[in-house]
Amino acid sequence: MENHANQSPSIPKWSALLIEAVTKPGLIMKAYSAFHPYSVGNQILALVQCQMRGDLQPGPINTYLKWKELGRFVKRGERALTLCMPITGKRREENSDEEHTFTSFVYKARWFTLSQTDGQELEPITIPEWDAERALAALSIERIPFDHTDGNIQGFAKQRQVAINPLAQLPFKTLCHELGHVILGHSTEIDFADGEATPRNLREVEAEAVALLCCEALDLEGTAYCRGYIQNWLYRVTDYNGQGLPEKSAQKVYHAADQIRRAGRLPTTENASEKR
Ligand SMILES: [Zn+2]
Repeated sequence: MENHANQSPSIPKWSALLIEAVTKPGLIMKAYSAFHPYSVGNQILALVQCQMRGDLQPGPINTYLKWKELGRFVKRGERALTLCMPITGKRREENSDEEHTFTSFVYKARWFTLSQTDGQELEPITIPEWDAERALAALSIERIPFDHTDGNIQGFAKQRQVAINPLAQLPFKTLCHELGHVILGHSTEIDFADGEATPRNLREVEAEAVALLCCEALDLEGTAYCRGYIQNWLYRVTDYNGQGLPEKSAQKVYHAADQIRRAGRLPTTENASEKR
């Protein structure tokens, strides 16, 4: 989500959507249940648009053509929801024959929820199950024994390895937090040992936001703790400007949470993507 040249002023920033999710318990879960095949950012974006329109029931979304394929049609006068979609293109460097592929992101209004359509009944939607070990394997992250002598440490991450204290208060939350450090690239920069008194730096709040986006969607214990931590950080951090996290951090956090959620899913037939 690097290129925001086409973002319309009515579309909230990613960081603002993240704050919305942090301050409203249940929002992430709702967004995940309704729009799980889509990316984390788009799930929240779609839900917030449903809420802004008031009467729009969150539920499966598809493009006009995809609904047609499914035997349903978009009702007259319905307005499409906007999502962010990747566009791949090729660029030729000046004075060179080499072509580079690049991905940029554009906002398009072309998705409709089930409630905006009519026609043939849909097959019931099942939300794929999530498994921690499957996620670790798919992400090529190794779980190693916890060998820290400080019992206050809940877990740690180094390179592509994570360890969780067997006595951790919130083991799944801690696992998602450590996975967050690894995927965000933190653990190649320095080793992380997360105690109860975690330093309030940007890396920590990013990892904790990843944990929140995963734990609430996957119904794992620890969301109240994550919310408390992030809110505390937001209001205490010295350069807080009312915007919350930097936009770049929010994008990284969505991407990391997306990877963890997708990596742990049991394979299903669904592979809907923003590209359709
Ligand atoms: Zn940490």
